[in-house]
Amino acid sequence: MFRQRTLDNGVEVVSLALPTSPVVAVRAEVGVGSACEASDTSGYAHLLEHVLVRADDLGVFGSGHVGDAWTSKNTTAYTITALRSEALDAARAILNTITTCRINDATLRQELTAINHERAERTANPFWRIRERLCRALWTGGPYARPILGDPDVLRNATLDDLRGFHAYWYVPANITLYVIGDTSSHDIAEAMSSTCAANAAPAPPQPPVPAINDFPITVREPLSGGRAAFAIGFAHNPPTACAADTAALTWRVLRATTGIDVHQLVAGCAAATWLTVIGSAEEQRPTGWVRTICDALQLAETALRTDRDTADRLVSAARIRELRQQERLESLSGHIADRWRIDRSLDAPTAHFLRLNRVGPHAIADGLSRLSDSFSQAPSVDRSPDTSPHRDAS
Ligand SMILES: [Zn+2]
Repeated sequence: MFRQRTLDNGVEVVSLALPTSPVVAVRAEVGVGSACEASDTSGYAHLLEHVLVRADDLGVFGSGHVGDAWTSKNTTAYTITALRSEALDAARAILNTITTCRINDATLRQELTAINHERAERTANPFWRIRERLCRALWTGGPYARPILGDPDVLRNATLDDLRGFHAYWYVPANITLYVIGDTSSHDIAEAMSSTCAANAAPAPPQPPVPAINDFPITVREPLSGGRAAFAIGFAHNPPTACAADTAALTWRVLRATTGIDVHQLVAGCAAATWLTVIGSAEEQRPTGWVRTICDALQLAETALRTDRDTADRLVSAARIRELRQQERLESLSGHIADRWRIDRSLDAPTAHFLRLNRVGPHAIADGLSRLSDSFSQAPSVDRSPDTSPHRDAS
């Protein structure tokens, strides 16, 4: 059962009690990412994540459990998995690290170098390049088009004072959500966290505006080694509801199992994009050939789900079992819960739905994806997963 509380100091705490779990996953999310930056602060959210973690050595905590952190379009997340007995210390450590801006020049320089390496590593990956090119094209000119790694020139000139200013604006308690998942029965997390960071009545800064949705798909192609190429076709759309996102994720697992095609979805606040990636011969240059391949694959997966009960049973069970196994890992579960919590909160209108993809009308791929999702929902052995959807038990 979820508990959700907003502490006196403004931090929102979401906890899920799993009494038999020997470890506790603690995750703090700050509502800031690359879409929140301006052109003169491009890359600050990611840089700040690096320097805050380094400043407090959050990487190694307590009995040696490793912390992690990452930045997305609209969130920066910090996590620690700790022994049950260290849950409170872990939660305090994270909150302390992110609300106190203990940064110095040596750390800043070190992390700028680390980010340069990260940039080189990521841009060498064709699937990262596909993702970046799609985001740029799908949300042209808007905040969601901004790269998470930022503008190298802006970063090179960033000063400690610039970062402190960015921190003071975005890292206010009202913009922080703390997730604590595991056996928390012997602690009152909210009580313990209330005194951890000073109250600050500043409201959460406004989130980036809703992007305009292109009604047309974007295609990109990246060469791979060995005479192969990766082709992707992407759509921008309204964010899915948490339930639709869950069904879609399972459906795509079926698609991958039957055809080898990967579907990716990026949901950031009020923006969402879905893209399919297929790998084939580099000799295929025209998008129409690749699109045909994808349409045929969607048809194949849909037929497998609709026509043969045994096959459908097997595919749906395999997708479901993988899901359940992931949920057994506490870190995955906390990520899943945080994603769903964020998605549900960002949806103003209950009508917003993944099937809005239908709007792209003549495009067979969008229709095929929607139909495939329907087939999955109607397949015989789909049952409801254990209840990890975020019901608010406000207290
Ligand atoms: Zn990084």
